[in-house]
Amino acid sequence: MSSVQRSIARARQCPYCGRPVAMNHLHCPHCREVVPRVRLAPAAPAAVKGGRIRRGFLYMVLGLVIHYVAARSDSLNLPFSVNPTVSYLSTMLFVGGLALLLYGLITKATA
Ligand SMILES: [Zn+2]
Repeated sequence: MSSVQRSIARARQCPYCGRPVAMNHLHCPHCREVVPRVRLAPAAPAAVKGGRIRRGFLYMVLGLVIHYVAARSDSLNLPFSVNPTVSYLSTMLFVGGLALLLYGLITKATA
């Protein structure tokens, strides 16, 4: 492959003037227009990086808050009654959040 072919392969076409633009240039050197970068592969989801740890911690906090409100519903003078199953469900939410947090930590440690 010659140097001209390599430079053409590393270039993209300007959508405004049609001339080749190097891949590392943000502006077309001929017409000075901004050449947007085209991403062919989807971006990595942000939830993968540390998302499990954060979500697990938030589930644990949410479970604690719900459990606290359900346990103190009599003294808090709430305008509604809290079903007794809410305390069991909030405990399950806390344990699920703890499991998700531990899974995220183990995944982060082994990666
Ligand atoms: Zn151009």
